[in-house]
Amino acid sequence: MSSSRQPVYTEKTKCRDCYKCVRYCPVKAIKVEENSARIIDDLCIYCGRCVEICPTHAKKVRNDVPEVKKLIRSGRKVVLSLAPSWTTGVFGSREELIAAFRGLGFCAVSETALGAELVSSWTSEQLEREPGLMISSACPTVNELFRKYYPQFIDSLSRAPSPLEAHALFLKRLMGERIAVVFAGPCIAKKLEADNRDSEIDFALTFDEMSGWLGERSLTAATPRSFETEDLDFYPCQAVSGSLYAMEGGMIRSLGDMSRSPDRTMVPLSGMTHIMEALDEMDGRDGMMLELLSCPGGCVNGSGFKNRGNQFAYRKKSLIHFEKALAGSISSSPVLEAAESMNLQLPLKSFIRASAHREASFTDELIEEALYELGKEKEEDRLDCGGCGYNSCRDFAVAYLKKMGEKPMCVTNMRKRAQKKVDMLLRTLPMGVVIVNRRHQIVECNKGFASLFADPETICDEEYAKRHSDLPLINFVDLTSCLTDILSGRKSIFEERLKINGKFLKITFFSIDKGHLAGVIIQDITTTSVKREDVIRKAEEVISKNLQNVQQIASLLGENAAETEIILRSLTDQFQFTAAEGNL
Ligand code: SF4
Ligand code: SF4
Repeated sequence: MSSSRQPVYTEKTKCRDCYKCVRYCPVKAIKVEENSARIIDDLCIYCGRCVEICPTHAKKVRNDVPEVKKLIRSGRKVVLSLAPSWTTGVFGSREELIAAFRGLGFCAVSETALGAELVSSWTSEQLEREPGLMISSACPTVNELFRKYYPQFIDSLSRAPSPLEAHALFLKRLMGERIAVVFAGPCIAKKLEADNRDSEIDFALTFDEMSGWLGERSLTAATPRSFETEDLDFYPCQAVSGSLYAMEGGMIRSLGDMSRSPDRTMVPLSGMTHIMEALDEMDGRDGMMLELLSCPGGCVNGSGFKNRGNQFAYRKKSLIHFEKALAGSISSSPVLEAAESMNLQLPLKSFIRASAHREASFTDELIEEALYELGKEKEEDRLDCGGCGYNSCRDFAVAYLKKMGEKPMCVTNMRKRAQKKVDMLLRTLPMGVVIVNRRHQIVECNKGFASLFADPETICDEEYAKRHSDLPLINFVDLTSCLTDILSGRKSIFEERLKINGKFLKITFFSIDKGHLAGVIIQDITTTSVKREDVIRKAEEVISKNLQNVQQIASLLGENAAETEIILRSLTDQFQFTAAEGNL
């Protein structure tokens, strides 16, 4: 085991709970908790789909390059087992890539396809001996699928070791047990194989990790002078038919004559959705050889290489490579001869069933209860929209019962609830409220708004809102310049006091969604203002009525009359001043 972390994991802080990974995960191994989607290792089959599609790159593949560097620095001989997908040309020509990888410190580069040829040979013999269903076990993701979700077929899985295990075994027999073997390929799930304590493989790197490492050393497709031409060949020989394993149907083709057996149908299938559909239909009694690869089209489309290109071009290059290798080879498989001469026997693999996760079932009654809790009591609420990541509301309810999902995942239900809250708030607020869009059209308004600008007696607020939504606000009241300040982003909240249609209004403008939605709260403060105006008017009356008398007896009263006038004047001035300031 190379690290405490699993081959695929979630970087929690990067998750933005969009549920895209839940939607794409073929086995729904992702649990959403506290608005974050994390992988449940016991359920994951390491297909890498979530890594490919996560828009925020919160799903990560464990980086084992530092461990491999340490291994090389330790002085042990480290051989690179290179996946058949190299034939797609992603790292340049054979000489270029061998030179580049040797430049990283690997003592030799050998093709994993040699191990594939050993596996094909074993499989051919087995097919001759045993009738019935046989399922290839070369893809670690497919093996995990069987262990965790289709244990009923586990006895039909081929017991041959994986091509990588067979290759590592062959290399160790050839070079001594002390060597270390590191795999490089487009496969994320191979890390799982390397993590196995009994494995012959020390580490598995993806092509992405290799690219990154080469990039650090500026070794891409360069041929360092220090290598002689003979060093720039695969060790100990070049593979032939094993290179076909990278493509759907390649393994079956590599079986040679056995691939045309009249007693057995040979079915290649790739892509997890197709595989699961097929397994759901199968009864296990068919006389069939199933070649299953998790990645659509095969390993040439593996998710451990995100810059992969045109699949047609890859397949074409790989097939041309195979034809050339076949034409240039003196033997159909030099590795078989070598294995025979060293009397190499492949150890048989056995698969351990994981607890069958599909078995967790709930009664219809329980599912109905969960649907009710999720706000889906009525049939028309069950939209099966897939927004939560599950195919149907029922599937989501089951996930909820399994504690794999939480209520906020249903966006439609959340929106409905939020709308109810907004409606309730709008209905109960005593002041007028209106929400407008960037075109200053009414999106929502309440009865308070109606009572200020329409006839509130004849309309209920819901009808009013419906009837008036999308109408320009200016049809009722002109707040254009203030709304422009908010919607343009110049201001986020401010207050104005305006006199409209004879009413004194205290109006608060605020931004809801910058550039898109603005809210307006309108309070009628006419009564307070009228009282204030009354005070001013009455004070003026007192002043004017008494002014003459005051002037006449001013000489008698002296300074006291002047003080009375000053007080009254300052009172009216103050009221007028504050009114003019807008502080009504
Ligand atoms: S790696 Fe595959 S199985 Fe695992 S969580 Fe991601 S999508 Fe699901
Ligand atoms: S199809 Fe190939 S690359 Fe994809 S998971 Fe299986 S073995 Fe790995």
